[in-house]
Amino acid sequence: MDLLIPDKVHDESRQGEALILEPGYKNNGRKLYIESYGCAMNFSDSEIVASILAEKGFETTSDFNNADVVFINTCSIRENAEVRVRNRLKEFAGAKFRNPGMVVGVLGCMAERLKAKFLEEEKLVDVVVGPDAYRSLPDLIEQVDSGQRAVNVLLSREETYADISPVRLNSNGINAFVSIMRGCDNMCSFCVVPFTRGRERSRDAYSVVAECRALFEAGYREVTLLGQNVDSYKWSGELADGSEQSAVGDKVKVVNFANLLEMVALVSPELRVRFSTSHPKDITDEVLHTIARYENICNYIHLPVQSGNSRILEMMNRTYDREWYMNRIDAIRRIIPECAISTDVITGFCTETEEEHNDTVTMMDYVKYDFAYMFKYSERPGTLAAKRYTDDIPEDVKQRRLAQIVAKQQQYSFYRMQARIGKIEKVLIEGFSKKSDKDYCGRSDQNAMVIFPVNENYKPGQYVNVLVERTTSATLIGTIV
Ligand code: SAM
Ligand code: SF4
Repeated sequence: MDLLIPDKVHDESRQGEALILEPGYKNNGRKLYIESYGCAMNFSDSEIVASILAEKGFETTSDFNNADVVFINTCSIRENAEVRVRNRLKEFAGAKFRNPGMVVGVLGCMAERLKAKFLEEEKLVDVVVGPDAYRSLPDLIEQVDSGQRAVNVLLSREETYADISPVRLNSNGINAFVSIMRGCDNMCSFCVVPFTRGRERSRDAYSVVAECRALFEAGYREVTLLGQNVDSYKWSGELADGSEQSAVGDKVKVVNFANLLEMVALVSPELRVRFSTSHPKDITDEVLHTIARYENICNYIHLPVQSGNSRILEMMNRTYDREWYMNRIDAIRRIIPECAISTDVITGFCTETEEEHNDTVTMMDYVKYDFAYMFKYSERPGTLAAKRYTDDIPEDVKQRRLAQIVAKQQQYSFYRMQARIGKIEKVLIEGFSKKSDKDYCGRSDQNAMVIFPVNENYKPGQYVNVLVERTTSATLIGTIV
């Protein structure tokens, strides 16, 4: 079992949902069905894909049986993510049998590794496209229309899709993901991302700011800046003329993550700024001070620890040790005392002893995380760990260690929630609560879900102050004050 305590960055409830777009002005009479798996970056990429195809006149549909083109945007991070996608492809086979003209495509992280298998063994798939090749989709669809199969899994050192203003799929019109960089250069030994998504590159800072400004003007009130390692964001280029320059000073030619955060925060004090993911080796005090300085940069940091033991961290090639990680936690607590912190943990990595596992448990005691995503180690073909180490921790031991940290995290999530009772939270209303249209739901600055009775004077997209009266382990419950 992988336990995911949900937040927006990897929302388990959104895995595989059909992503739809309001009907547009162009129409070529063909319908696109697209569903996404995995991380927020994949959901954001699906918006880029939909944007490229909307430009060519495709409409979206939520029913793959009605679609002319069916795309599945895949994830490779753990074996079970791949299994899920393969099962889904079997379901598309029936629709393709009834409608032989249907184009079925596999996009994203599984494309490179499994292209041959998809095209040769599972005859169902017509197109295989990697994360850096989405601009070629219209041509590849044409190629399939003319009776060929089409593949483009080339990774790029430059592609950031900076000029593509993504359409928003299944949007509530209030929060949006904005991709600020692609790929990853870190080579953590367990991780397949550097192989599936290629080298790290940062997107033009001014295109990021322009996209955030356009979102704000369209009524959006929260942006989440996305990258595998946002703290290593670095863009240098021609300074744009106009107001953005003054955001970080006229002389700044290289924009780092702290600068970018500030530039986006200055779009409007009414626009909330979130970001994910921070890497413990790279998160700087400059970034922390920037968060502290701007009220609209949310006090919430996702800082994956992976393990609390220095030997395991070295084998994972995380390039920090237990003391370094604790030092970063201390810096966050010092500079942003109210900051919520979440993490990712892997249990049962190669050779992990009981004592070493216990170091992860004591790290959880030290930080008392607000949320955690917890996983059993899953060996991925081609990674450094798969080449160098034996996946030698038995399944039942991985499972027991996972269950232990899951129980511990539930305790700390509840503890963090309880600490908010009696406090007033500034909440951005996102809509009606899932359970009742008599209640609104929204997020606090620290990213906790807050539920409170509807008040006619306020609408989704507005901020309200909510007095917290009680909690569950995942939700704050209160009333507007
Ligand atoms: N770039 C981010 C970072 O470094 O923290 C996250 C990347 S990954 C999409 C999200 C999480 O999946 C990782 O933090 C890690 O906990 C987990 N993960 C990655 N590879 C894994 C593997 N082989 N087995 C189990 N969990 C894995
Ligand atoms: Fe994977 Fe490590 Fe890069 Fe995160 S930082 S994407 S875990 S290689």
